[in-house]
Amino acid sequence: MDDVVVIGGGIIGASAAYFLSKEGRKVKVIERDPTYKNASFPLSLGGFRRQFFQKENILLGKFAKEFIFNISETLKTEKNPNPTASMVANGYLLMFGPEHADEQYKALENHKACDAGTKNIKGTELSKYFPYVNSDGIETATFTDNKTEGWIDPFMFHAALKSKAIELGAEFIKGEVKSLNEINAKTIISAAGCWTKELLEDIPVVPQKHTVFRVKCPKHIPEMPLTGDLTTGVYWRPEGKEYLAGSPISVFDANDLEPAWNDFEELVWPALAKRIPAFEELKLTGGWAGYYDCNKLDNNAVVGKHPKYDNVYMATGFTGRGLMQAPGIGRALTELITTGSYQTIDISAFSVERVLNSEIRHEPYVL
Ligand SMILES: Cc1cc2nc3c(=O)[nH]c(=O)nc-3n(C[C@H](O)[C@H](O)[C@H](O)COP(=O)(O)OP(=O)(O)OC[C@H]3O[C@@H](n4cnc5c(N)ncnc54)[C@H](O)[C@@H]3O)c2cc1C
Repeated sequence: MDDVVVIGGGIIGASAAYFLSKEGRKVKVIERDPTYKNASFPLSLGGFRRQFFQKENILLGKFAKEFIFNISETLKTEKNPNPTASMVANGYLLMFGPEHADEQYKALENHKACDAGTKNIKGTELSKYFPYVNSDGIETATFTDNKTEGWIDPFMFHAALKSKAIELGAEFIKGEVKSLNEINAKTIISAAGCWTKELLEDIPVVPQKHTVFRVKCPKHIPEMPLTGDLTTGVYWRPEGKEYLAGSPISVFDANDLEPAWNDFEELVWPALAKRIPAFEELKLTGGWAGYYDCNKLDNNAVVGKHPKYDNVYMATGFTGRGLMQAPGIGRALTELITTGSYQTIDISAFSVERVLNSEIRHEPYVL
């Protein structure tokens, strides 16, 4: 009998393998596609933030920063002595119209309670801090400017977690698990991302296709934060000398990962040009699409022991924030499995029972 088997070697699987191996557990990770071609994490924008509504998401975002800042030490291995995730700590800027302002003011109370260190300004003050932004229609905006939010290279982050887990004794093997009954282990963790339903059909997490565009603009604004305009749902960030911009349209039941190219001219470019006048001059240079592991119930993660099994744990449903939550979730699962309860961030609110009972706890800030 195996000690711990993790199904899915994506970012959540790799993080769980790292934290459990650190505690001396013998972990086997089974991944059906070690190239990770369609897995969510390499197709993500790499953002880590603490600007959420729910306190658990704020706290997990704070831990992401702490973890990412320390990986040169914590994830150092003999084979990879200088691990990096190519972090750019430019912060986040989220802008809200009048329709979202009251909700944002409530979120700010949670930011304060969690000591998130975010700053809030009126829309009319935006140009003082971000002179390249057109504030028309923005009631309020929240941002960080103290290097606590930003983005990383998801593939490098995954590689660093995986290689440290392997050095600590974890084994990553290629294979597809068709049913949980195939696994003979003391502890099973389902980290199958948006494909979780194939193994646990009562979990309301499904693939939700999102498109990201790569654009070139003659004006380079390297200090620009990862910026979300909640009046249109469009978000963007610098990527080297170019920019990445996400479409606000997402699709359930998509047959393939062909990007929704029409969204660029119809929605994304007009929204970008309205908010950042320099973006009137843009050239589309590429794009891709990937799946969010969307929790259709309320956009929140589903983490913990599955009540219908004695030894099955799971983590999914991150709805656009699984990369940044991976460190906190790997640690939380390890605490739950090794001690029976959460020891640091209490994420009982994300329990599988809550989701099976359809108790909604909505997280509105999905980008
Ligand atoms: C366009 C886009 C932008 C995003 N931006 C961000 C962002 O800025 N910040 C952020 O934090 N998150 C972001 N995300 C979300 C993030 O990528 C996901 O939430 C995260 O990758 C989920 O991690 P995971 O390990 O659960 O799933 P995945 O990364 O999908 O890994 C799951 C793995 O399980 C394997 N698997 C599945 N079923 C089986 C099986 N039966 N047997 C064996 N293997 C199996 C799959 O092959 C896959 O490799 C974004 C996602 C997309 C698509």
